Amino acid sequence: MLHKLIIALNNRLVRWRRIKVRPEEILLLLPHCLHKQSCPRNVMHSLDECRRCGQCSIGALTAIRDDLGVVACIAGGGREALAQTRRPEIKAVVAVACGKELVQGIFAAFPKPVLAVSNQTPEGPCRNTLADPATVIEAIESLMRGKE
Ligand code: SF4
Repeated sequence: MLHKLIIALNNRLVRWRRIKVRPEEILLLLPHCLHKQSCPRNVMHSLDECRRCGQCSIGALTAIRDDLGVVACIAGGGREALAQTRRPEIKAVVAVACGKELVQGIFAAFPKPVLAVSNQTPEGPCRNTLADPATVIEAIESLMRGKE
């Protein structure tokens, strides 16, 4: 509940700031639990490994990366996620994760703006989670246009 509140407040604040950045300055940061456990593709190494078979959210999110021209990667853990957000060319982040990890990431990445998108957990936490592509697109586009 507290996580939801912090995420909502953070997202409202980031949108209120009307940050305008180029697509290549936006990092789409994804958790490894989005990757279907039975998939043999090494998407942790590169999203280009994904064959977009539609069995998990990684395919649609990789297509979003290519369509909008943002940077995207899967982080294996909090330390790797933070290292990615601290890359100097990255000016804003759209992060997908569970509530707890999003809140940790928002504080760790500060002052870099993070728009947080909660994943869905139909099989329970940390396993074959899902991300809503429309919500991710909306978050990216709001950073690109600099308006709410
Ligand atoms: S969309 Fe298919 S190929 Fe891509 S990561 Fe998911 S299961 Fe693997």
